Parts: sequence; C-alpha cells; structure tokens
Amino acid sequence: MELTWFRYLLSTTSLALWLVAPSAFAKDAFGLDSYKIRAEMLTKSEKPYTTKYGNSINVYAVANSQPTSTEKKQHVRFLIQGGLHGNELLASEFVAWLAKRFANGESLLNTLNNGNISIDFVPYANPDGTIQFTRYNSNQINLNRNFDVLWGVTRENPGPSPFSENETRAIRDLVLSRNYTAAVDVHGFVNWIVMPTSPSEGLKGLPKVTAERRKTYDLWASAVKSHAAKQLPGYEIKTAGELKDGGAFEDFTWWSGGVPAICLELFTDSRHVLMSFADTIINILTPKGINTRDRAARGQSDTFIAYESYIHSLFQDAIKIDSGVENKREIVSTR
Ligand SMILES: [Zn+2]
Repeated sequence: MELTWFRYLLSTTSLALWLVAPSAFAKDAFGLDSYKIRAEMLTKSEKPYTTKYGNSINVYAVANSQPTSTEKKQHVRFLIQGGLHGNELLASEFVAWLAKRFANGESLLNTLNNGNISIDFVPYANPDGTIQFTRYNSNQINLNRNFDVLWGVTRENPGPSPFSENETRAIRDLVLSRNYTAAVDVHGFVNWIVMPTSPSEGLKGLPKVTAERRKTYDLWASAVKSHAAKQLPGYEIKTAGELKDGGAFEDFTWWSGGVPAICLELFTDSRHVLMSFADTIINILTPKGINTRDRAARGQSDTFIAYESYIHSLFQDAIKIDSGVENKREIVSTR
C-alpha cells in the first residue's frame, strides 16, 4: 500500500488550499502581496481580459533584487505559469511557492545570469477553474487546447476558435510582449514533460522553420531530456504533437512566440491524493501500472525542491542557447 500517514500529512497542504481557495482567492491566497511582489494586470487597461466570473489573471512580475556578481550581464526574463487546468491545484501552489522564494532571494533561480534575472509568475492562469475546482474555464473550454498552433486536433473542447477565451488572450499578449528567454507551464499529475511539437514530426499546420530555429529546438530538447534524466528520474519526454493535444500553451509559445517552452507535469500522487477522493480510491484499488524502479525513483525526485532545481538547469541552458554561447558538453545528453 502506497498511502502512508506521512503521505496523507503531506497531501493535506493541498487539501487545505482546496478548502480555502474559493474565499481566499481574491485576497491572494498565497500571501504574495505581503512579499511585496508587484502584481500587474496582464493586459492593457483599455482591454481588460477578465474571466466570465470577473476574475483577472494576475502576473507577479518579480525582479531579482541582488545581482550575485559584479559582472554585467544582459537582463533576462522568464515565465512560470500554473493552474491552466484549475483542478491541478498543486501546480498553482508550486508556482506561488517559487514566487515567494524568488521574491525573498531564497531560490536557486535567483543565482541565474549572475542575478540579472526577472521572472513573471502566473499561479492562477485559469482563476475560474481554480475556484470551481475544474479542469476547464467557466465556458467549459480546455484552455490548454485553445491556443492557435494545431488548434482543433484534440477531442476535448478547444473552444469555437483559437484564443476565443480571455484567459488565453491574456497569456498570448503576455508571451508576445515580454521577450521571455524560456517559459514553463506547470501541470499535474503524471511523470511527463511535454515539449512543443518537433519540427521533425512533419505535422500539417506548422509554420516552416529555418535551419537555425530547428537547431534551437534541438538544443532545447537536449537540455530538457538530459536534465530530466539526471534530476527527474523516471520521467518521460513527450511532445504536444504526439499527444495530439493541439492548441497547447507550449506549442503556441514556441511556434508563434519563438520562446522555448515546456509543460512540466508534477508527479505527486503523494501530495494531491486527498484532493480527489475518486483518484484515491482508484489508486488503492488499481494494480500499480508503474514499475517498482520508477516508483522508487519518484520517491527521490517528487519534491518542490527537485522541480525548482530542474527549472534552474533548464533556464541556465536557455540563457546559453539564447545568447549563442551554449556549452555543448553540458547540453548534450549524458545517458
Ligand atoms: Zn493540466
């Protein structure tokens, strides 16, 4: 039996969030304001992209306050988003946890690029969904199928057209205006990292790519894979194209925004189990589909710290790739 009392204790963090989210949400459930994070609306004031229920999608734009070295580096900015599927509460919790650490100068991410770094955190990309504890938004649309690239491939409701939803419009405008070096969209709960669709998959509907862009994709893919092999043992690398997602955030961000991106699934049944009693029962009754080696590996890697460390490695490589001074020995897979 996987479910020990210790694991139940861990999972109660998420349960507590679930219980407080609806009432505390508007007051900033994670207390980010008290850490003096500048919350700004994604969008221009003349065109507010509020949700059906009137929620705004807030960005916590945090600049590292203390450079770690006097060596001047060009400033870089990243995006870390969570909660696009509202019922994946742990994703929001993780993004908010990271935001607080970064704002306090306590994160490994603070050391990137000699400290010349900003990160835009979006813990609640689908606030209506979070409040209602549902995968979709208030129009019953899967927001992670509502972006433009390969839109409509999915069997889940992708909306009447790409960017039909204010949530995805807000995220689109953010990605296209903030010049990110890389972006991570946090989800849960399976041992996957989802890359943008590869140029090599030859799917119809993708723009033509230059040799340089293809090379950038390959460098990014190598970084994603090699660091996962070392830091997130048991993880599988997928692409949005092979999963037939269509309209996914990472495809838009890479193919339309030109920004290296991934969907990072947190693999945390030990933490989220109480959030869904149905999941719990299925977990207990179903023979384990994952082999023992993977489950053992997961025990070591399945922590916020491990995910933070993984994102740190990825961003480090993204900076190198972006500045064209990539260190191939570090980027090439070591498997
Ligand atoms: Zn998700």
